[in-house]
Amino acid sequence: MATHRALEAAIAALEGANTVLLAPSSLSAVSLVFIALLSPGDHVLVQDSVYGPVRERVEPLLTRLGVSVDYFSAGGGPPTASVTPQTRLIYVESPSSFLYEVIDLPALSAFARERRILLAADNTWGAGLLYRPLALGADISVQAVTKYLGGHSDLLQGAVSASDPAIASRLRDAHEALGLSVSADDAYLALRGIRTLAVRLAQHGRNALEVARYLQTERNAVARVFHPALPDDPAYPLWQRDFTGANGLVSIALRHAEQASAHAFVDALRLFGNGASWGGYESLAMVAPPSRIREHSYCAGMSPWCGSTSASKILLI
Ligand SMILES: *Cc1c(COP(=O)(O)O)cnc(C)c1O
Repeated sequence: MATHRALEAAIAALEGANTVLLAPSSLSAVSLVFIALLSPGDHVLVQDSVYGPVRERVEPLLTRLGVSVDYFSAGGGPPTASVTPQTRLIYVESPSSFLYEVIDLPALSAFARERRILLAADNTWGAGLLYRPLALGADISVQAVTKYLGGHSDLLQGAVSASDPAIASRLRDAHEALGLSVSADDAYLALRGIRTLAVRLAQHGRNALEVARYLQTERNAVARVFHPALPDDPAYPLWQRDFTGANGLVSIALRHAEQASAHAFVDALRLFGNGASWGGYESLAMVAPPSRIREHSYCAGMSPWCGSTSASKILLI
């Protein structure tokens, strides 16, 4: 248990939280947030560019439990029109999966607080070091420890952080009821990863920006590069205001966007393996599943990059 407590304390320090609950994957940590805080008849608003499995796996579960789920676009300001008297929770992810859309979290927090709606944020991109959702007004921050905290692609783990005692106690009750736990070995691996988090992320950020800038010069092949630290990325102003750095994720949309050519591109890369997860030590690339990209309303306004599509996600050490 000492190892678990040390890991909880390390994540609490990163997130600026009083309470940290560990879960065997981040998806289970995300589900814990919804199950702990929502009851039949409640309504939850989810950012539409959220990590795909939230939509594919968690939404059907919530629907079956009598919770209604709606989506809103991060770019459209606070979701005034989508809120109902039953809305209890707003769930966001910033920057979002694949396209790195950044949401104005302080503004959304003020909006939610006024209506007594809880605000939860997926902080996997920022890893607790580049972004601190709790300090910016979120009530709950969730992280995939699997990614940058673990840092070596040998761990599946999630963490839920909160500071308000009433929220923490609801999360703890559901955490215990579901019997969520991690092994001491896995807690150790996460702790060991955290020791090098700052130096790894600094290098990831430098590498990603260099590759992103190079890809921007390849105008014949690349229609758009997605990386919030690029000054001409739409996410740049909010990223610069609210984040202390960038990580190693870069996405591109190929100009000739058939799936087959996108796969051929990824297969031909010599320094990048073909793989889906990120935050580890090797460079990986994958073709984003078209369904995941189409779900972004942000993307709908930006065809031809999104459309049918071949936005290839490139992941860097
Ligand atoms: C990978 C990821 C998750 C899920 O992490 P697992 O530990 O693999 O379940 C959740 N949110 C985001 C943004 C992710 O990238």
